Amino acid sequence: MNIRDSRHHKDSERLKRNRRKFSDTLVTNGPNTSSTAGTDAHDADKQEAEIVRRQYLESEQRFRALLESLPKVAVQGYDRDRRVIYWNEGSTRLYGYTAEEAQGQLLEDLIIPAFMRDEVIQAHSAWIEEGVAIPASELELKHKTGELVSVFSQHLMLNEHTDSPLLFCVDVDLSSQKRAHRDLEFATRFDRLTHLPNRQSFETDLGSLLDACRRQGHGLLTLYLDIDHFVEINDALGYDQGDRLLIELTRRLKECQRVTDLVSRVSSDEFVLAFPGVHLAPDARRIVRHIQNVFREPFVLDERERQVTACLGVALFPENGESSRELIRNADVAKNRAKLEGRGAVRFFQQKLHDELVRQHYLLARLEEALDNGEFSLHYQPQVSAASGRIENLEALLRWQPADGPTISPGEFIPLAERSGLIHRLGDWVIEEACRQQVEWRAKGFHEHRIDINVSGRQLVRPDALKRFEGSLQRHGLAARDIGIELTENVLIEADETVIEDLRRLYHRGFHIALDDFGTGYSSLSYLKHFPVTALKIDRSFIQDAPTQPKDRAIMEGAILIGHRLGLEVVAEGVENAEQLSLLRDMHCDLIQGFFFFRPMPAKEIDRLLSGFMPSHEGLSS
Ligand code: C2E
Ligand code: CA
Ligand code: CA
Repeated sequence: MNIRDSRHHKDSERLKRNRRKFSDTLVTNGPNTSSTAGTDAHDADKQEAEIVRRQYLESEQRFRALLESLPKVAVQGYDRDRRVIYWNEGSTRLYGYTAEEAQGQLLEDLIIPAFMRDEVIQAHSAWIEEGVAIPASELELKHKTGELVSVFSQHLMLNEHTDSPLLFCVDVDLSSQKRAHRDLEFATRFDRLTHLPNRQSFETDLGSLLDACRRQGHGLLTLYLDIDHFVEINDALGYDQGDRLLIELTRRLKECQRVTDLVSRVSSDEFVLAFPGVHLAPDARRIVRHIQNVFREPFVLDERERQVTACLGVALFPENGESSRELIRNADVAKNRAKLEGRGAVRFFQQKLHDELVRQHYLLARLEEALDNGEFSLHYQPQVSAASGRIENLEALLRWQPADGPTISPGEFIPLAERSGLIHRLGDWVIEEACRQQVEWRAKGFHEHRIDINVSGRQLVRPDALKRFEGSLQRHGLAARDIGIELTENVLIEADETVIEDLRRLYHRGFHIALDDFGTGYSSLSYLKHFPVTALKIDRSFIQDAPTQPKDRAIMEGAILIGHRLGLEVVAEGVENAEQLSLLRDMHCDLIQGFFFFRPMPAKEIDRLLSGFMPSHEGLSS
């Protein structure tokens, strides 16, 4: 028998003795025992006692076997004075003491941390003296090294009502669960790579910081940082270099962090920071400069120095938002604006711009169903001869009248339709509607007037756009003199060769092709001789200021002159008053379009106008 066996043997002997006393009490005081019983009864009693004793021994063996078979469970036995009388392998593993070391030591000296000492002694005596059991609970007990170990501890009193009660503690090690729990908590609150708070915990932290700012009447600056072209760094150099950049950036950001400032990483290449105590624009600019300086030094990636930039978006408390969520979102909105401007840009949040963005988003969503719901119509604005005042042509202008709100201007929705690609369907609809209307007017006997439709650059990106236009005319039995088109100079310059070819074909077939907004685009005159156009429309801005601004007047005059020299018809748009008209007449402009004569109007009003039911404008007779 080795030392440990002998110790175990001793332990178990002691345990047995104690338990026996316990069971003896049970047996001697049990209901079936009687000192006045006869011999037979006495024999029977002896037999029964023997059975109980055997049962006890078996259960004792099972108990021991159980204790030894649970290496992860630490079991300790303590006597009435809380001295160790039993200490299994599991206890050695959990608390660091061997059974020899533990044997005979006081519970409170061994594994009870100082702060729990009195409590444990009291609880132990309360159990022994008053029968108050110690409930099972999660505890932190002391390892031999002094470190605390998390355990789930259950307690059991044997021989409770005798003079040698035994306390058994059954402890399960919780440290791996605790660690897992801590890891989980870390993972839910912090970013794994940089160890910075993540979006959720930043939002919470910022919320508390805002409460403090509110109490102290302080302002706060929220800054959204987005590394430029991070994907390219990742793609070109690999994820480990991308990670390096993020870690180095975190280090630099932390360097300019005061105790009260917050820094967080909210997504792969995005960080959000908060700086309390910012009140005035100079404070804000100083902080922005500070953060920009973080990128001044190159980053060493893949053993080479690389210049990295980031776009910044700023939102201020309380001006740009009251809650942490609102401030983060608005700083993000500002950052997205900055992104549009390119590398290293900074933007402060502006409510007006944001409202505009929100409206665009709404309109975009509504635009498609508006087409299906028939919310679009064409209005027509007459062009009159400057010399005779006769109505010559009609420009078709698109109108969107939503069923549930005020009219929306094409200046607002055309760019959106261009961006979303809906311009193609919308453009097809305009052509169809203009053709249908022209056929109707022709049938009514109005043979004189051409309808000009506006064609945007995006429409011509579709290679068959102009062929479809011709196809529509053919289907309606219309010819070149019935429908013309207006294009801006930029559209012509950006158009590819097939578009120019198509335009040339239209030109040679006698179609009217006007150059819209003339003077506002590239304004290189040399292209005028290359491109197939039949008319120039001088932009409203020159007309508007011509009477008062000599330079605008000069441009206007020059445009009319050049147009005529090149054999083009010249139209002035946006004519609003008699002075403008008189200048244009003096300069021999061909056609006049503008509110001075007619506003764009629905087809029905054009009907009446062409039928002669509407009085002509005074401008005609002047
Ligand atoms: P645009 O082609 O330059 O059209 C002339 C614009 O000037 C029209 O605005 C017209 O209502 C306005 N206007 C006309 N006379 C006057 C005037 O005397 N004073 C002032 N202040 N304005 C005048 P609208 O209808 O709001 O159209 C804006 C722009 O939307 C158009 O500019 C055109 O670029 C575009 N657009 C309109 N309809 C269509 C369309 O069917 N297709 C395409 N692609 N674009 C269209
Ligand atoms: Ca136009
Ligand atoms: Ca125009």
